Amino acid sequence: MSKPKNVMEVFRHLEKSNCKACGEKTCLAFAGAVFQSRKQINECPKADESVIELFTHERSNDSFEMGDDYIEDLKAKIPEIDLADVAAHYNGKFDGSRLMLKILGKDFGISSEGRLVTNIHVNRFVAVPFLELVVNGKGIDPTGEWVSFRELKKTAGFSYDFFHRQCEVGMKRVADSYPDLFEDLVDIFGGEKIDGMLGADIDVVLHPFPKVPIMICYWKPEDGVESDLNIYFDKTADSNLPGRGIYTACYGISRMIERLSVRHAEFVTYRPRVL
Ligand code: SF4
Repeated sequence: MSKPKNVMEVFRHLEKSNCKACGEKTCLAFAGAVFQSRKQINECPKADESVIELFTHERSNDSFEMGDDYIEDLKAKIPEIDLADVAAHYNGKFDGSRLMLKILGKDFGISSEGRLVTNIHVNRFVAVPFLELVVNGKGIDPTGEWVSFRELKKTAGFSYDFFHRQCEVGMKRVADSYPDLFEDLVDIFGGEKIDGMLGADIDVVLHPFPKVPIMICYWKPEDGVESDLNIYFDKTADSNLPGRGIYTACYGISRMIERLSVRHAEFVTYRPRVL
């Protein structure tokens, strides 16, 4: 979590494939852009989480840190939480000692002592929203009224501008080059394609966290006008996933999507030709 001392310090950690997915012609050019703060390290979809953490120095209002302390503080509150009640509110299961919920399409849980229980890789972009939901979420039924990030109140002070750059811009970049993205998202997170919200070309509603549906609207590029992508939330989202939950969940999804696009591109590039 520091500013790099020179371009080579960033370059050393890149994949060096010059794949151009970041919008630069070479990894070296991208490293230069990161060093000059023209690009964020997470704009390279091949940078792994440790590299992103190493060079991510800008945060919401330039002060946000998703440190382990934050996660540990939330976990420390678990023994005071009625996990059976949380299970009832979020359509989960509680067996007397651990709560299990469907998170990002996978089983994710926590024991009464505060130990995370899951078969998937635990990173902070899953752990933070999960814990926010369990510890601070209200479990309110969604209303069907959609609002933008800037209309939500309990978002730990994240500005819309920061959210837009970190979450919506990355998803839009992927959507521009990956036509099957939205079908794949519906498969992975559970959800449905819907028609015609806000005049968008493609709308999907996803259910990455229980009682926290998100709607992604994508406008294709047309007649020299750039594409656009906006994420909307049910107006109860910041009650069910308060604090840092909404931002970290969307940032995590954005990163997952970027990785998905890389795998998709590799599959298309390397699949054997059928003659
Ligand atoms: S996306 Fe990453 S690996 Fe590809 S050229 Fe850019 S920096 Fe290099």
